[in-house]
Amino acid sequence: MKIYDKCYINGQWISPVKTQFHDIVNPATNQVCAQTALGTENEVNLAVAAAKAAFSLWSETSAQQRSELIHAVADKMQSRSEELSAAITMTMGCPLHLSRDIQVQGAIDSFRAYAQHAFLMEAREENQEMVIFKEAVGVCVLISPWNYPLSQLVGKIAPALAAGCTMVVKPAEQTPLQDFIMAEIFEQVGLPAGVFNLVPGVGSDIGPVMCSHPDVDMVSFTGSTRAGIKVSQSASPSVKRVCLELGGKSAMIITEDADFAAAVRYGVEDVMINSGQTCNALTRMLVPKSRYEEALLIAKSVAEENRVGSPLDETVSMGPMSSMTQRNTVLNYIKLGIDEGARLVTGGLDLPAEVTTGAYVRPTIFADVNNQMRIAQEEIFGPVLCMIPYQGIDNAVEIANDSLFGLSSSVYAKDTTAALQIARRIRSGQCYVQGAYFNTNAPFGGYKQSGNGREWGEQGLMEYVEIKTVIIA
Ligand code: NAD
Repeated sequence: MKIYDKCYINGQWISPVKTQFHDIVNPATNQVCAQTALGTENEVNLAVAAAKAAFSLWSETSAQQRSELIHAVADKMQSRSEELSAAITMTMGCPLHLSRDIQVQGAIDSFRAYAQHAFLMEAREENQEMVIFKEAVGVCVLISPWNYPLSQLVGKIAPALAAGCTMVVKPAEQTPLQDFIMAEIFEQVGLPAGVFNLVPGVGSDIGPVMCSHPDVDMVSFTGSTRAGIKVSQSASPSVKRVCLELGGKSAMIITEDADFAAAVRYGVEDVMINSGQTCNALTRMLVPKSRYEEALLIAKSVAEENRVGSPLDETVSMGPMSSMTQRNTVLNYIKLGIDEGARLVTGGLDLPAEVTTGAYVRPTIFADVNNQMRIAQEEIFGPVLCMIPYQGIDNAVEIANDSLFGLSSSVYAKDTTAALQIARRIRSGQCYVQGAYFNTNAPFGGYKQSGNGREWGEQGLMEYVEIKTVIIA
């Protein structure tokens, strides 16, 4: 078992003043697989001071210099991709073959994309009256969740580096290992001391210290809406920029004329990937009443195709939930759905037949779900799909929008023009039409209580940019 007993601050590995360790548990075995030292207020203060001191040097580097460094980091990530994948699988249970493809390779590719986006910082608007410059925001606190721990980290550190910001990073308690690998990579490629600082720790403990720190200019947070509200509250007295990427309860509308075999398969697979622990999962499938029973039959058969089991088995499509805590949360929601009167089509409360221990949940589908039920309104964050009947497209759009969240959505129709018209009526930051997938070149973020930021692509860089206007007399 590896013990990570230091924080990475100002280019050095530093032991926290108070020695307190956190057990990292492999959710497939429920065994402790690593330990990390927990950072304290003292290490947060040191890290912020280092990031503040490094800012003037780093923000004044050329886009070319930052771009070369981003390529060098991406090369090292590529050479350590197997180690990154193994760390993610061990700590949050994603099957190893999926960790390689969707958790790590996508993250490396999108990290590299910011080598190009860095040059946007040097583009200026100019006329006889004024020049408009882009400048780096400053010292950023970057807090990430456990469900796609490398991607969520990259979605913050890549644009922050490209813009010329310096940073203090805090991973989720359960999944810090890839952050340590990234710190080692930054050390190896010679990133100037203080640009990237890593302070692992408990969110409710050091999070408020980080988010309220007077020398921090911006907080970018990805996680639950519950914690996002606390982050905003901590940051608001010092008027920081706060970028929130929060939860979702996204709707997929299948129209009456759609290819049901393809549409329902797409929707079920979307919810089950990563054991349902995906913020933009399409967890409410809206189906015309006239074809409801047909859709249920397809959904049941697609869900039951899943092989649940050890994340090290290459034939498995679903590993465990990320922790026993998350498993219990999901099981409580499944019980709630049964109590609310929804019909269990497949799945349920028992351990999957294939396993005897670990944080596993069966792929679960509920029919006869009313959108007012809690299982249709609250984010379950597990492999649970709610199938909701509708009558007419206006009713479908009304149900899709009847949510506190607005992260993503989907429309599947026979005709793409008709699908686009429906897509425009849904209040969400992204909409996947005709079976499209998440794309790291596309701006991503929420409406309503799903957040207020946009990550990925060029728009993701702009989160880290201040606009300066110089007016000429
Ligand atoms: P969480 O809110 O419990 O934790 C997220 C991070 O916040 C962790 O690092 C945690 O330590 C930290 N944290 C907790 N309390 C804090 C506080 N008071 N101040 C500062 N930091 C604090 O979320 P989670 O369970 O790790 O992740 C799941 C949630 O993340 C889901 O709601 C999911 O939808 C959301 N998510 C959103 C996106 C997106 O891009 N919108 C992406 C992935 C996950």
